[in-house]
Amino acid sequence: MKKILVAGAGHGGLVAAAKLSDAGYDVTVLEKGEEGTLGHDWEDGFGLANLAKVLGIKTEELPSDFWRPRGDGAFFSPSKRKKIVVHYGPTGQRVVWRKTLISMLLAHAVNHGVRIEYGVEVLAPIVENNRVTGLETSAGKYEADLVIDAAGAFSPVRMNLPDSFCIEKTPKDGDVFYGHRGYYSKAYEYQPDIGFEVYLYHEREQGLSWFDTSREGCDVLIGRVFPLDDAKVEEQHALFRKDHPWFGNELLHGGYYAIIPVRRPLTLMVADGYAAVGDSAFMTTPMNGMGIDLSLLAGGILADTIIKYNSADAKDLWKYNRAYHILYGANNARNHGLKGALLALPFEAIDFFFENGIIQSADLQGAGDNTSLPVLLEKFIRGMKHPKWFFTLLGGLMKGTAAAKLYRNPPEEYSLPEINAWSEKIGSKDVKVEVRAH
Ligand SMILES: Cc1cc2nc3c(=O)[nH]c(=O)nc-3n(C[C@H](O)[C@H](O)[C@H](O)COP(=O)(O)OP(=O)(O)OC[C@H]3O[C@@H](n4cnc5c(N)ncnc54)[C@H](O)[C@@H]3O)c2cc1C
Repeated sequence: MKKILVAGAGHGGLVAAAKLSDAGYDVTVLEKGEEGTLGHDWEDGFGLANLAKVLGIKTEELPSDFWRPRGDGAFFSPSKRKKIVVHYGPTGQRVVWRKTLISMLLAHAVNHGVRIEYGVEVLAPIVENNRVTGLETSAGKYEADLVIDAAGAFSPVRMNLPDSFCIEKTPKDGDVFYGHRGYYSKAYEYQPDIGFEVYLYHEREQGLSWFDTSREGCDVLIGRVFPLDDAKVEEQHALFRKDHPWFGNELLHGGYYAIIPVRRPLTLMVADGYAAVGDSAFMTTPMNGMGIDLSLLAGGILADTIIKYNSADAKDLWKYNRAYHILYGANNARNHGLKGALLALPFEAIDFFFENGIIQSADLQGAGDNTSLPVLLEKFIRGMKHPKWFFTLLGGLMKGTAAAKLYRNPPEEYSLPEINAWSEKIGSKDVKVEVRAH
């Protein structure tokens, strides 16, 4: 085992690449973007500790102008009648320019001997004798002993794997969040007390939007569970302008469409010669779509596993798959159940939860992790005012908890019949989400 290809310069792929190169493997990243253009043109939140660990420094050694604390947030119910404030606090989430973050990870990989080929679009895996042996790309065929798939939610590698690998290829309705995000000028100077506003079921459509006036401009995200187009984005911007008259017209950053997986991770994400990491394996927290930390962590586990077994065989890569699920996948499976229930409910139910204290500040801050018994009991009493909606929510939580238990107990060994039976059991816990007319 010598030659490793990483498809796409995703976060987890770059972390794994640097570690594997250090361990003596010959690692090449194939990235469709051009050098100097990678990373979203906006800021996103994550904890800094995992990044510092990857870079081999202390958190306080990260450049102080690299991040800023996330300010407080105001979450609005669909009717906008109720607002819940979330105090992230000084030690909470950090917000970082994505281009700077990815540049750091790219430089780290190169410094550790990784080769990066820009402008190469990966088209599909090459599969021979039930094993991935390389990649078809816009620049021709590349051979490898192992392909690490870090090409994002709609990775052409994962989506073109043979069915016999039993790896889920296409996300289902509600599994993906379609976003449009841009930073726009201010028409006049204005700074609300709480700059970061999040609107759940914004304009009564499945999804959320935010309007952030925390800095010099207006950071506007329109997010839905259905694909967006220019007409929809313009319609939503016009609606935002009515209650945010300082929302200017000049585009400062971003201004494009992007996709976030918002579901539990792939149950099976490895095959002979193949391992997925990051968004290509749907490694985000479903309720908030945060995937940077999970991707960095998974990249580390993947590299450690490959180094330990010096193997690209599914039976050995399965150890990575298992470890990720026990450590992180289980929690996200639980969160997936809750998210599914919220999406399955009508927007009136979300208003009811906001107005009756069933959704509280701690739920919004922790993406639904606030489930201690006294808290649940109190919510139960309040929820009984509308049992149908409350039991749908509780049902989602219970299904998520059952799925989490399964994620925490994956089959010991890589055996497709056993893994398929386990995956099927997990799938049976999913809340069915229908994308409604909009
Ligand atoms: C609007 C928005 C807001 C978000 N906010 C947050 C947040 O606040 N916090 C957080 O933690 N996460 C956030 N996320 C999610 C986060 O971006 C991802 O979870 C994280 O980037 C991990 O994804 P990844 O690195 O695996 O893949 P990506 O970031 O998608 O990277 C994939 C890489 O592969 C390349 N690529 C794709 N296809 C090909 C191909 N065919 N050939 C070659 N290269 C290819 C791409 O150019 C890219 O460089 C947000 C996402 C969006 C869209």
